[in-house]
Amino acid sequence: MKIGVLALQGDFDAHRKRLEELGAEVVLVKKPSQLDEIDGLIIPGGESSTFLKLLGKTGFAELKEFVRLKPTFGTCAGAILLAKEVENPAQTGLGALDIGIRRNAYGRQLESSIREGIFRGTPIEMVFIRAPKIERLGPEVEVLATEGKDPVVVRQGKTMAATFHPELTDDTRVHQSFLDLVQNGKRHK
Ligand code: GLN
Repeated sequence: MKIGVLALQGDFDAHRKRLEELGAEVVLVKKPSQLDEIDGLIIPGGESSTFLKLLGKTGFAELKEFVRLKPTFGTCAGAILLAKEVENPAQTGLGALDIGIRRNAYGRQLESSIREGIFRGTPIEMVFIRAPKIERLGPEVEVLATEGKDPVVVRQGKTMAATFHPELTDDTRVHQSFLDLVQNGKRHK
């Protein structure tokens, strides 16, 4: 299984390490043509507005097409990019997840924090860094993890997003569930 990690900026290397640890072959995606060789993609954390600038119009269109066809997992800024509606401030999204998301939703005091949430029924440690909050969930969106009352990992079809950074803790379950999604998608073809 070949998984791409969008490597324009942000913490793509931690995702690479985690994926390799789980036995996946990793491609650091820096050019749109590399999207053709992968079975799934991770869009890492970073600054979503910077991602949009670096992608440009063509890169954005190519990424949008990839996301429509193949499994994609966005973490933090990546979750923002995958959303249909983005606010604070408003920004274009790829529209792959029918969610409304609010950037930097925890305010200055909580720029970053480690909290415990529940992933698929069991506790998991979550690292939040200038994290967004999912404020609206479309009817097709499944919640895989919560922190307090907030949905923090969601899935719609072959698209998954986390508002925290699962690549920064030792727990491999969130990445594993994305790999399972990629694997299942392959099997159904
Ligand atoms: N605050 C960033 C944004 O709005 C996301 C932060 C992150 O990816 N850690 O894009």
